[in-house]
Amino acid sequence: MNIASNIETVQEKIRCAAEKAGRNPDEITLIAVTKTVDSEAARQVMQAGVLDLGENRVQSFLDKYEALGDEPRWHIIGHLQTNKVKYIIGKVQLIHSVDSLHLAEEINKKALALGLSQDILFQFNISGETSKSGAAEEEAERIFEALSKLQGISVRGLMTMAPLLADDSETKQVFAGLRKLSEKISNWQYPNISMDYLSMGMSGDFEAAISEGANLVRIGSALFK
Ligand SMILES: *Cc1c(COP(=O)(O)O)cnc(C)c1O
Repeated sequence: MNIASNIETVQEKIRCAAEKAGRNPDEITLIAVTKTVDSEAARQVMQAGVLDLGENRVQSFLDKYEALGDEPRWHIIGHLQTNKVKYIIGKVQLIHSVDSLHLAEEINKKALALGLSQDILFQFNISGETSKSGAAEEEAERIFEALSKLQGISVRGLMTMAPLLADDSETKQVFAGLRKLSEKISNWQYPNISMDYLSMGMSGDFEAAISEGANLVRIGSALFK
């Protein structure tokens, strides 16, 4: 496993996909998803210049946080239970996987108790596939009206995952759907809500995601093979 060279390959593909879409590659951030590797491998990622690291489970985040501290920017990307929120507030840059108002309210409460505002993304299930977490698009207005009133969180954008077995056109439709939803939400002009980030695209589909406007791509297996 040559992490540095894998990173270089992926970054080159990100650049190509951006240019093909007429976008500036510098506006796309690679988040290295380190969930399958240890802290030593995560350190190699950082040495190769990638300082955004993603973890999907709180415990594996905490293990790595103990080893690597605040030097990387930490992203929580997996389903988060409300009873685990207290362990991560103040340590993570961005929580991508906020998929219910209930969870957002818990994050808000814990952040306010620490005198912080936590940046989050809201996760939607655009495909409607039942195995995927994320809120339904139809819920967006109700949810965002409520989110806009929570002072302990700052909503910075949206996140989604494409269905596992989707073909290319279905995958693109899901990513385009999230982009359109973010434009719609942006037009509502709720206070405390910005649509700076679209977190979409993994090892198998990040190029499609970039062509649909992703600016945070979450990539694991392509870096650690
Ligand atoms: C594991 C994971 C990724 C990275 O997936 P790869 O296919 O390994 O690139 C991205 N996002 C989420 C939410 C994940 O759980």
